[in-house]
Amino acid sequence: MAHTPVLSFTDHGIYCAAGDFYIDPWRPVARALITHGHADHARWGHGSYLATHQALPVIQHRLGEIACQGISYGEVLRIGTAEVSFHPAGHVPGSAQIKVVVEGEIWVASGDYKIEDDGLSDPFEPQKCHHFITESTFGLPVFRWRPQDAVADDLNNWWRKCAGEGKTAFLGAYSLGKAQRLLRMLDPGIGPILTHGAVEATNAVLRGQGIDLPTTVQLTKDTDPKANKGALVLAPPSALGSAWAKRFGPGESAFASGWMQLRGVRRRRAGDRGFVISDHADWPGLLSAIRETGAENIYVTHGYTDVFSRYLTENGWRAEVVPTEFGGEDAEGEAS
Ligand SMILES: [Zn+2]
Ligand SMILES: [Zn+2]
Repeated sequence: MAHTPVLSFTDHGIYCAAGDFYIDPWRPVARALITHGHADHARWGHGSYLATHQALPVIQHRLGEIACQGISYGEVLRIGTAEVSFHPAGHVPGSAQIKVVVEGEIWVASGDYKIEDDGLSDPFEPQKCHHFITESTFGLPVFRWRPQDAVADDLNNWWRKCAGEGKTAFLGAYSLGKAQRLLRMLDPGIGPILTHGAVEATNAVLRGQGIDLPTTVQLTKDTDPKANKGALVLAPPSALGSAWAKRFGPGESAFASGWMQLRGVRRRRAGDRGFVISDHADWPGLLSAIRETGAENIYVTHGYTDVFSRYLTENGWRAEVVPTEFGGEDAEGEAS
């Protein structure tokens, strides 16, 4: 008789038969284990939600009244005949890799992850396992991130130059994770930091759980541009270039994303500047994460799945592409 895999890929999501639960399901299910609060992973309509204590506030903010349970990193919970634990994924605050152990066989569904410590999220902790489910959002060799400090210097130099020329600096970033990471990289000595409502709503949730962020002022229709000379405005990319931005007079806009590494994208999307920074692992990061798991079986989801799984196969892993409905960095959007 064929042995039932610990995790399998179904039309509702990643399923564990031993515990009768799903991980980040994309269709409504009775019991969902959620890696993190981005919209493509934490969806509406499940009977119950299990996520880390640090991820729950954002999930509840987004989804409203839900039946949910919190778990600490490293805590082991028995569900059916499966042992389940959550481990830091370093992606956004509260994000987790979910480890599932059944009769000694270890699977890890890593959700979204990055290797570099961003100073905001609990840093990525590799988990030994037999089967590893990995994203490949940036699974091409061209994607190599510079250290966060170097990007922070570029960002602050750009803002300082804008302020010096009497221009407002408009910075586009997704509201959960990226925006707060950028806030902690900015030098508040340069000028006031104004935020779009979607960014500020997420800031409020994260501050409420004890995460320290610099002072920000939410932009409203009453905000006086003259009283905010040299300001930086942090907003979702979709809000850049809209009517309210024009009230601020001369300005420059920039967009912060891993996609800025691609020249064509930079030209189309970046406005005046592009800063290459991502909450997903780059090519070396993906490979080092996979090596550290010691896993022989790799399941590749979102992004450059074909290229990445072919590379793994050619280098000695058993790799396959699995169908999921997760988005990439563009799906991580707008908090509501
Ligand atoms: Zn994500
Ligand atoms: Zn994702």
